[in-house]
Amino acid sequence: QLEKVGFIGLGNMGFHMANNLINAGYKLTVNDIDRSTMRKFSDRGISAVETPFEVAESSDVVITMLPSSSHVSSVYTGEYGLLHGGSQLRPWLFIDSSTIDPYTSRKLSMNISQCLVKESKGNPNSPVMLDAPVSGGVLGAAARTLTFMVGGLEDAYLAAKPLFFAMGKNTVYCGAPGNGVAAKICNNLAMAVSMLGVSEALALGQGLGISASTLTNIFNSSSARCWSSDSYNPVPGIMEGVPSSRSYAGGFSSKLMAKDLMLAKASAEEIHQKCPLTSEALNIYMEMCSRGYESKDFSCVYRHFYSGDDN
Ligand code: NAD
Repeated sequence: QLEKVGFIGLGNMGFHMANNLINAGYKLTVNDIDRSTMRKFSDRGISAVETPFEVAESSDVVITMLPSSSHVSSVYTGEYGLLHGGSQLRPWLFIDSSTIDPYTSRKLSMNISQCLVKESKGNPNSPVMLDAPVSGGVLGAAARTLTFMVGGLEDAYLAAKPLFFAMGKNTVYCGAPGNGVAAKICNNLAMAVSMLGVSEALALGQGLGISASTLTNIFNSSSARCWSSDSYNPVPGIMEGVPSSRSYAGGFSSKLMAKDLMLAKASAEEIHQKCPLTSEALNIYMEMCSRGYESKDFSCVYRHFYSGDDN
């Protein structure tokens, strides 16, 4: 049974996701450390409680959407955290949609499966955790078009599908615990590097006298074509409706891209895999953040290579 849903972390993403669950008819109990955010829900009669433990006490399933690994760990295992109830846990399913490191996610999943939950029919069962990070950004969260990449037990994934479709339009089952977050950080690593490649090449082309629009046309009908060239072009004025054409406002911030690259780098180092492009991409995004671009869309990295007139 998944009627009573707890939701923790009502920020840029979580606010919309929780609202979409409410609109789909689920009965929510919410929590955030930011009281003004909580009030946006309690003012509408939604149950807003003080601690993650109180969320757990009144929910069949709990969803977390928090900034980083340390926040997720403290919400689960801190004082009055979700797992405070130990063997008397009420929820049988925990879904973490935050982008965190696979190691933390797998550790939590093991902790959780060691707790016993007592089902109403009297059969003791272990609760389950799914890692289910998302792509689609704040606009996708608002429009209910997110994609969920899900790791954990397949039965739990199938049971949770209606929840995912109340918040998004696509789900991909990735296998074992932690595989959802692994997929997410690999996707963002590939996206960061392709954006850098397209930006560097478009800047070089302009330096050599070819306009960015001519070069983009060539890329898009040749082997360099990719999402960064044909759907999210980083050069202002080439495409309408993308962040580069509104001074890089909105979209996916450089700060979040740097965070995801840090997770990719740490994961690569953990398994002793070489990651020169991850390291260089991270350096460039950190530099962009320190130059004042931290809240700008990550395609602003074009400015790392080119500061002249565009096109
Ligand atoms: P956010 O910072 O806007 O929201 C996080 C919320 O968690 C805030 O409201 C904060 O007050 C709350 N919070 C922090 N610590 C807490 C605690 N201990 N207990 C309860 N609440 C707490 O972040 P966001 O942009 O919504 O992103 C959330 C996650 O989703 C991140 O892991 C991010 O990497 C990932 N993500 C974000 C985007 C995006 O475009 N914003 C896209 C895909 C994935």
